[in-house]
Amino acid sequence: MTDDYGRRMAIMDPVDRPISDEHRADVDRARVALLDPSMAHIVDMVLEADGTEYLASSAEGSVRFTAGAAGSGWDISVVAVEGENPVAHQAAGHLAPLDAERADPAPTRDQNSYPMAYEQVVQLFDSPAAPDLVAIHTGAHNWEDQGGHRGEHGSIGVVQARAPFVIAGAGVRQEGMVASACSVVDIAPTVLALLGAEPTTGVARNGSRRDDAYLARQDGDVLDEVLDGSAPEHVVGFLIDGTNANVLHDMVARGEAPNIARLMEMGSTFGHGAISALPTVTLANHTSILTGCFPGHHGILHNAWYDRRRGEQIITNSPAHWMTSMQHLSPEVESLYSAVKRHFPGSLAVSINEPCDAGADYSIFELFRTGAEIPTAPPTAELPDATERFVRPSKDYKTASKIDHTSVDQACGIWSGHYRGTEWPVPKFTWVNFTLTDAAFHEGGPYSDIAAASVHDTDARIGRVLEAVEASGAWDRTAFFVTADHGMQESDPSCTGNWADALDESGVDYRDEGYSFIYVNP
Ligand SMILES: [Zn+2]
Repeated sequence: MTDDYGRRMAIMDPVDRPISDEHRADVDRARVALLDPSMAHIVDMVLEADGTEYLASSAEGSVRFTAGAAGSGWDISVVAVEGENPVAHQAAGHLAPLDAERADPAPTRDQNSYPMAYEQVVQLFDSPAAPDLVAIHTGAHNWEDQGGHRGEHGSIGVVQARAPFVIAGAGVRQEGMVASACSVVDIAPTVLALLGAEPTTGVARNGSRRDDAYLARQDGDVLDEVLDGSAPEHVVGFLIDGTNANVLHDMVARGEAPNIARLMEMGSTFGHGAISALPTVTLANHTSILTGCFPGHHGILHNAWYDRRRGEQIITNSPAHWMTSMQHLSPEVESLYSAVKRHFPGSLAVSINEPCDAGADYSIFELFRTGAEIPTAPPTAELPDATERFVRPSKDYKTASKIDHTSVDQACGIWSGHYRGTEWPVPKFTWVNFTLTDAAFHEGGPYSDIAAASVHDTDARIGRVLEAVEASGAWDRTAFFVTADHGMQESDPSCTGNWADALDESGVDYRDEGYSFIYVNP
């Protein structure tokens, strides 16, 4: 089944919008404007679907490709290359470990790598809400008019896409650091297989039926290579938002993150990380981790996008919209919480400080939605595990430290068995989302003291949750994982600019949503 643009439709309704030669000509003009040499310092490449084909273009060349179905996956065929293929390099292990990354902090396209680049494009354009063009910014680009963060993400370049992934404890093999990568969509099916769930029928990434699915729709695959075949009774997952994997591995090696080090010693670490899905932004990838599906399939397409059918801008990743963001989750997608409860009836699934909470038994966002009393943090001066040097001067550091402190309180409270006047059984699945790292890595960049302090503080908070698991007596029957939703790259403060200048000059009518999704003639 294809939509009016000839895109293969997986699970969503087709877009009801004719494609005219005039529209095609306007899309072409917008692409040419974005790839103008004057934009080359900020525009790395432009991605799009063109009929039944996909196109990735840069100022130096382009690649056109198709994606047929093969088993549960896609069979990618390159149809044509003109000039240089912008996504020719796709090695996930490129620019790792940290010294390799730091030797080339702003890699140009020929020095960069774009893991899973073809799949990144295909999944996104499966969504009827996909834009006409996705502009991928360069590694060096400093978004001056979006706050000018020293650390940036959002692109499919390896440093921005590479999140850490550590898995450890009962049922997990002790392989140490392995020189391989996985995808964020592999995590949810791996957790279910680890817990001993039985696979059944589901929908694969290519839209076909698969008989080895743990989730109703499952784009990812079980990481069998790190499982020992025994099933733990509980899994606790930690998300450390926006943490650069190389920086984390380096801090662990230097003894700066002893609790994550403990987990790494007990289990297996993907040295090349978990590759975040396009767009490599927060809620799209929290949802990918917690559904086993790519953004183009689970429906949380970006921080903001445009729904042409309704003529409406959709915003999900902002404090005003987190609470209700899951209304945009595709009904055909199953959350990890729901899948845990389906496979293990009567079990408890807990979601701490996570907007993607569909199906969870406990979630602070549910407390917000129902107007219940919300856990509060102590005064700043009494905040444990918070590096004072940054709490005082940085508002973001202070706010995120307080939020993460309350997350520890909630997780430890529930694991203690008594919390909020309720008795809690030991959760089958616990998810704890820590936000401080993202705030600090943005503020100072991945190699800054503030970023290191945020990892140190967050590691201490993880340690408190580990202590609560030990105190429950369930340690030997519990597995753990640590991941993030995207990587973080050091931007160059002198590399500024906005592609809106080029698009405005082209005269094309457009919307730029989430700063990269270009809708032509909206
Ligand atoms: Zn994030």
